Amino acid sequence: MSQDPSQLFPVRWQVLRPWIVTLAVIWVLGSVGLGWLVKSFLFLIGLMVITPVLGFLGLRWWVRRTLVQDACPVCQYEFSALNNTQTHCPNCGEALTVENQHFQRPVSAGTIDVQAVEVTAQVVEDDN
Ligand SMILES: [Zn+2]
Repeated sequence: MSQDPSQLFPVRWQVLRPWIVTLAVIWVLGSVGLGWLVKSFLFLIGLMVITPVLGFLGLRWWVRRTLVQDACPVCQYEFSALNNTQTHCPNCGEALTVENQHFQRPVSAGTIDVQAVEVTAQVVEDDN
């Protein structure tokens, strides 16, 4: 089974034509003395390629700086929130503030936070 080369050629030509036209335009502009036009065009293309990459890296940097992942101080459920915002724990519903990369319970002045400790009761037997 042999393929007719005349059937393959138009397909290849369709693929190559934009490149050949581009190269021809660059060569013509360069020979006429409009190399600066080609350079500015290439600069624009480079800018179009670099800008999304820089944007993506910047966004990643911003998210890493702004997004805080910590455990809820009430129920220890781990979740993420934006830094310097107020949020609610999705697990227990406690209102929390996000400061210095940590979740904190907003407390009004004069409130003392205490930790409850379970103490086993000792029975003292009287032998008398
Ligand atoms: Zn919680």
